[in-house]
Amino acid sequence: MPPQIISSKNASELRQDLVSGDWVAIATARAKRPNAFIEKKKRKFLQSKSACPFEQFLSPRELLYARDGREAADDWWIQAIPNKYPAFTRGACATPHTAGPYVWTEGVGFHEVIITRDHTRAIARMRQDEVEQIIRVYQERMLAMYRDDCVKYVSIFHNHGSQAGATISHPHSQIIALPVVPPDVARSIRGSADYFHQHTACVHCAMIAYERKAGERLIYENDYCLVLAPYASKTAFELRIFPKKHRARFEEVVAEERVSVADALRVSLAKLAGGLNDPDYNFFFHTAPVGAGKEEFGHYHWHIEIIPKTAIWAGFEIGTGIEISAIAPEDAAAFLKNIKV
Ligand SMILES: [Zn+2]
Ligand SMILES: [Zn+2]
Repeated sequence: MPPQIISSKNASELRQDLVSGDWVAIATARAKRPNAFIEKKKRKFLQSKSACPFEQFLSPRELLYARDGREAADDWWIQAIPNKYPAFTRGACATPHTAGPYVWTEGVGFHEVIITRDHTRAIARMRQDEVEQIIRVYQERMLAMYRDDCVKYVSIFHNHGSQAGATISHPHSQIIALPVVPPDVARSIRGSADYFHQHTACVHCAMIAYERKAGERLIYENDYCLVLAPYASKTAFELRIFPKKHRARFEEVVAEERVSVADALRVSLAKLAGGLNDPDYNFFFHTAPVGAGKEEFGHYHWHIEIIPKTAIWAGFEIGTGIEISAIAPEDAAAFLKNIKV
């Protein structure tokens, strides 16, 4: 018996990501209204301050970053510390080994935690200058890690809420330096390089120009940044922050651009928190890896991706890599645009 046709009207629209080539499904037939994504009951992930491992200021010997080098133990606001349970540790440069048909390499690298002082105040509720500090520490720690020749890529990410994988509720970000270029970054770089060879233009600059004109997925704009709901959003209410100035590397962002990056990050997270009642989310940076020369990844355009935890990957998503989103990015953008922050 052939598969049964339920309706002649298409139940969904498949969209392809211009950079990765990934397909996503926007399920128009089972689409939900933006209000359906608002967190109903507040399952607050909040650990007690007395049991919080991030309350103490580390001694300068252990500390990796202190503001202007003269932060005192009692007035610290931000610090970078080594992760107590690192996924990657410092060691000799990794060289691939074989084991029968397999290849493996030591997990050489760095794993640090960036902690802000307040036990509960997330980035969405921070002041502009506080978020600027965080951005600056990301850059400084990244540059410090890149001084090690074994490091090929530095990943910066932030998990907010237990659904997003945070095991400590106190706001913090993590930075991991890797001896390899991770697969998602490699794919993003490849897609950007392919587009550049075909069009002699940056794929992200092309998207930015189009999205600014189209306007329907544009959520926020300041001097140097745009916040968009991506055309091929993998999850409902996914956001992307793009610097308007073409730059391959986040660590090269200068002070006046950093103001805009901090503002765009704070506004994006505040809109999500305000509009959807503080959903859990992950955000991470995509930036060019270490190259043979400065121009090697000149086609690339660094950016930040924010992924709210609005759905669980089940058999179809894991088996195919196609995520079904129950809201069109245009509707998510229209909803978030109107959230006052
Ligand atoms: Zn704490
Ligand atoms: Zn560009």
